[in-house]
Amino acid sequence: MYRSHTCGELRYSDIGLKVLLSGWVQKSRDLGGMTFVDLRDRYGVTQLAFNVDDEKELTEKARKLGREFVIQIKGEVIERSSKNKNIPTGDIEIKVLSLKVLNSSITPPFTIEQNTDGGEDLRAKYRYLDLRRSCVQEKLRLRNRVSLETRKFLDSKEFLDVETPVLIKSTPEGARDFVVPSRMNEGEYYALPQSPQTFKQLLMVSGFDRYYQIVKCFRDEDLRADRQPEFTQIDCEMSFVEQEDVLNLFEELIKHLFRVVIGVELEEKFPRISYQEAMERFGSDKPDTRFAMEFVDMNEVTKNKGFAIFDNAEQVLAINAKGCSEYSRKEIDKLTDWVRRPQIGCKGLVYLKCNQDGTYKSSVDKFYSQKDLDCWAKLAEAKPGDLLLLISGELDKTRKQMNDLRLHMADKLGLRDPNVFNPLWVVDFPLFEWDEDEKRYHAKHHPFTSPKVEDIDLFDSAPSQIRANAYDLVMNGVELGGGSIRIHRRELQSKMFDLLGFTKDEAEEQFGFLMSAFEYGAPPHGGIAFGLDRLVATMDGVDSIRDYIAFPKNNSGRDVMIDAPSPLNIEQINELGIKS
Ligand code: ASP
Repeated sequence: MYRSHTCGELRYSDIGLKVLLSGWVQKSRDLGGMTFVDLRDRYGVTQLAFNVDDEKELTEKARKLGREFVIQIKGEVIERSSKNKNIPTGDIEIKVLSLKVLNSSITPPFTIEQNTDGGEDLRAKYRYLDLRRSCVQEKLRLRNRVSLETRKFLDSKEFLDVETPVLIKSTPEGARDFVVPSRMNEGEYYALPQSPQTFKQLLMVSGFDRYYQIVKCFRDEDLRADRQPEFTQIDCEMSFVEQEDVLNLFEELIKHLFRVVIGVELEEKFPRISYQEAMERFGSDKPDTRFAMEFVDMNEVTKNKGFAIFDNAEQVLAINAKGCSEYSRKEIDKLTDWVRRPQIGCKGLVYLKCNQDGTYKSSVDKFYSQKDLDCWAKLAEAKPGDLLLLISGELDKTRKQMNDLRLHMADKLGLRDPNVFNPLWVVDFPLFEWDEDEKRYHAKHHPFTSPKVEDIDLFDSAPSQIRANAYDLVMNGVELGGGSIRIHRRELQSKMFDLLGFTKDEAEEQFGFLMSAFEYGAPPHGGIAFGLDRLVATMDGVDSIRDYIAFPKNNSGRDVMIDAPSPLNIEQINELGIKS
């Protein structure tokens, strides 16, 4: 037997108990007469005490213990003289009677503590040591609670957990596929699923009615803090549902998770806005609604006063940075430099300071009278003390830039409180997106998404105006999940592929199996998928999903711990029949 208790378990009431503990040496302190060792496991830390006067040999042995040695001790729980209120075991310590080293450790490359001295790269290389830190373990515990509660909730609603294959054929979620060569079918390749989309729809055709899976998805795209090449979805599909049914049920799931896992009561009904409105008010289909600072359309009040930049712009937009009229020249210059960076790409930034005395100061005073500027302020509902920031240009680009500026200002002003959770359904997405470079339409969600019945007539005349039965759940500026009501008839699916530029043969070759299935009584169906990693990180008030994944990849898609990807040896290449 290795242990009678864990290192997080013993309390004042256990004083006098003889115990066996096993764990890692967090640190040891030699205070002359006494040696103290902090023993750590997943559950906590317990202090071990060695008294050189009572146990000379044992204390000598304890003094030789290095950090991260794995030891087993036998001892007695005694009251601690200087109690540590910061840890649950802080009232007691163990008077050690025997000590066994189960395994030694070479000196770890960084300290296994909350405030570690290890940089990100080093910790990634030794991720198994980083994972010993309780603050990192806590994140995976949170993830575990979220997935467990998800399963319980979906099970209570009759969802069946069904596994779908990983070696499949391309699924068009808009990213690049990871591919796997087939040894048995030389020259042919599997694709890893970007999502189980087609399979979950086939399960509806099979009559499973309610499906879910907590499943790995693979997308070969450029990585950022909130993206990983392999990530986990809570993937769901339901038959005989309309958009309203899906939104209501999954709103309930999200409220349940926040309530039982982190004790947060979300709004009873999540607000909903259309894609169109989200773009007009926030310039983003995943707006952060913890703060207002909404866009103001300034076209009416800025044009025809001789300022060519605004006159020639398709769109002039403003946001109101409340209480910022005292910004210095230097601060405004810094902001201007910020919007001019290539990542943002603005040509410049116009400001209007609404002075406390009711006068105005702008960077374009040459062109606009105080009366003109008063009109700006009125339109933007700016009060004395506020600062309007304006940018202009082509509509879509200006919206995107203003979205970046809005978030930047909110960060500066501390308006993005990690303890506030604002859910929002964004609905009525366009079905198609026009790709100017490729001169073709793409499916905004994916090609299996159904159009709104009332917009079907626009298929031939104005495809870009067709709205989809598609929805995203957004929280604090993050897309937590998205889904749609699907097409379940062959003709419409085939029309969709036509419009997306597939020839009949290509559509048949790639998705013939699905279109055939639709001919055998496919029920109306729809679903949604949530990014589990992102959901958990958002619940924890963190942007990066990396720490919520046990073994994540870095920004170049590498696992630096196992050193993957790596070259294949020539035998493997030959066996797979890959030609370079
Ligand atoms: N397969 C979709 C995605 O991964 C989700 C869905 O439509 O259910 O975004």
